[in-house]
Amino acid sequence: MTSSAERFDASINERLHQLRAAGTYKHEIIMEGPQSSTVTTVAGPMRNFCANNYLGLASHPAVVEGARRGLQERGVGLASVRFICGTQDEHRALEQDVAGLLGYDDAILFGSCFDANTGLFAGIATEHDVIISDELNHASIIDGIRLSRARRSVYRHGDVADLRHRLGQARDEAHQLFVVTDGVFSMEGHLAPLPQILDVAEEFGAVVVVDDSHGVGVVGAKGFGTVDLYGAQPRVAIQTGTFGKALGGASGGYVVGSRTVVDLLRQTARPYLFSNALAPAVVGSARAAIDVLTHSPELVRRLHENVVWFREAIASAGFKVLSGDHAIVAVMVGEEERAAQLATRIRQAGVLVVAFSYPVVPRGEARIRVQISADHSRADLEAAVGAFRAANEEFSIV
Ligand SMILES: *Cc1c(COP(=O)(O)O)cnc(C)c1O
Repeated sequence: MTSSAERFDASINERLHQLRAAGTYKHEIIMEGPQSSTVTTVAGPMRNFCANNYLGLASHPAVVEGARRGLQERGVGLASVRFICGTQDEHRALEQDVAGLLGYDDAILFGSCFDANTGLFAGIATEHDVIISDELNHASIIDGIRLSRARRSVYRHGDVADLRHRLGQARDEAHQLFVVTDGVFSMEGHLAPLPQILDVAEEFGAVVVVDDSHGVGVVGAKGFGTVDLYGAQPRVAIQTGTFGKALGGASGGYVVGSRTVVDLLRQTARPYLFSNALAPAVVGSARAAIDVLTHSPELVRRLHENVVWFREAIASAGFKVLSGDHAIVAVMVGEEERAAQLATRIRQAGVLVVAFSYPVVPRGEARIRVQISADHSRADLEAAVGAFRAANEEFSIV
């Protein structure tokens, strides 16, 4: 006799089988050392072109030291949420660091940016409100809107005319309108058209929220992000972001905004109220990362130089790349199967890249997403372009 647990397992297995058959089952590459521009995998060392480690801070000595001091001076963890007995001076200091970096009154920390986004909308919006969201926004924004009681309206990617249309539709029924967008779209490396979004949003009295997880540490001459690039604080009323990418790569997220918005979130955001405070080592690494970003402009400069070099070289090699100047470089392949084969061959040449295909990107628009870091040497960049060229000789993508 089979138990209900066994029957459930059999049905789950069927779903796994379907994922494998569709080619969308994800395999994890096991690494045996720290995140870096070269990583040690069980298959040997590989030059890494798929981490969000844009400034190389994940193993930067000052950032590691920040984590070590946090651990040593404030312990392993708080064993409490923030409002019971989980707030240390260093949590408040990090909140002030982030707010200062981005040009806002205050900040509130979350366990991740995923948590920040799922806490934000339920925390500030009511059932009388409407949230208008770019169709390519990150999964955590989509989930965050679902968890709120507000109505949702989705505009075509980066399409300000469609956004205006939806603002007009929602204006009469909404107590408060919100517009939310990624600052940088992670599958394209495109920036949101913030000045235009702000203009239409203000026409309708809408509050603009930007998730700049791929922007902070990367975008703008100082690397202070997409909103800073356009000088759009405080017109962008609220920003969310992560410490899990350029800012050290450990974990943790934040919301920055006015003192009142942050104050309300401390009272209402469920992932803040019901989930453990950030660990001191994570707080320490994030504070050190912000310090490095603020005081070492050469890192951002080197990142931008690497991006320019790689974008020119890969285009000269004949590959079609989505335009822009972000460190996310989408090398377009088209057909799903070929993108997967090309990525596999490039990895066999010791260059770690990942192919993205439907449903993560539209059908027939499969691509290899390359992510450049300040930590990449010229030899790394040349090796990556060389691996693309060699693989292309086999698969004739271009
Ligand atoms: C990566 C990312 C997140 C999630 O950040 P975590 O801190 O890893 O949870 C949220 N939003 C955007 C736009 C992202 O790119």
